[in-house]
Amino acid sequence: MAKFKRVLLKLSGESLMGSQEYGIDSQRLNDYATQIKEIVEKGVQVAIVIGGGNIFRGLSGSTQGFDRVKGDQMGMLATVINSLALGSALKNHGVSNRVLTAIRMEPIGEFYSKDKAVESLEKGEVVILSGGTGNPYFTTDTGSSLRGIEVEADVMLKGTRVDGIYTADPEKDPTATKYEKITFDEVYSQGLKVMDLTATAMCKENNLPVIVFDMDTIGNLVKVIDGENIGTYVYN
Ligand code: UDP
Repeated sequence: MAKFKRVLLKLSGESLMGSQEYGIDSQRLNDYATQIKEIVEKGVQVAIVIGGGNIFRGLSGSTQGFDRVKGDQMGMLATVINSLALGSALKNHGVSNRVLTAIRMEPIGEFYSKDKAVESLEKGEVVILSGGTGNPYFTTDTGSSLRGIEVEADVMLKGTRVDGIYTADPEKDPTATKYEKITFDEVYSQGLKVMDLTATAMCKENNLPVIVFDMDTIGNLVKVIDGENIGTYVYN
C-alpha cells in the first residue's frame, strides 16, 4: 500500500549524467522512468521537478563571465531540456505525462498553472514542472518546494546520490552517521546542507515534509512510497 497519495519528486540534473561528464545518460533516464512507472502503477499522483546542473548552472556561468541573470535563464532552459527528455522516456515506458513550463514557450510545453497541474495529476498523468520558479537567483530545490506546496503534495521526495542526511560529510569523516529523522530547525541549527535555505524555509513554513533518499539505486523510489525508512525524513 502506498503511504502517499500525491508526491513532488525532485530529481537532480547532475544525476542524469550517469557516468558521463556532461549531458544526459540514456540508461539513467530509463532507470528513472522505470522507477516512476512503478509508483504511478500503484496509484500515486506524481509531480516532478528536475534540475539542470548536468547542462548549465547560472552561478558557474557567472564565473565564466556571463551576466548572472542570463546564466540563470540558461540554467532554467537546461531544466526544460531535461524535462522533455524525461517526458519522452516516460512516454516510451507507456506513462502518460505533461511537461509544463514556468516561462511561456509553447509549443515546447504549456505554461504552468496550479489548475493545469492538478487536473493532470487527478487524471493519473505525471506532470513535469520545468523551468524552476521562472526567476533567476532561485534553484530547482526552491522550485520543487514551491510547486510541491502549490499542488498540495503530501511530501517532497528529494532523490539524490546519497542515501540521506549525515552528521558530517561521510566521504570526509568515517564517523559520520545518518539521520533517520531530523527537524527543519535542527537542519538550520546544525548548518546541514540538505537544500538551499530558501527551499528549506518554504518547506518549513508551509509544512511540507521532505524525504532525502538515494534515487540512483533502482527500487528505492517504490520503497520510499511504501513507507520504508531508507532515507532521512525532514519535518517540523
Ligand atoms: N535556476 C534559476 N531559477 C530557478 C531554478 C533554476 O535561475 O527557479 C537556474 C540556476 O541557474 C541553476 C540552474 O537553473 O543553477 C539549474 O538548476 P539547479 O542547479 O537547481 O539544478 P541541479 O543542481 O539540481 O542539477
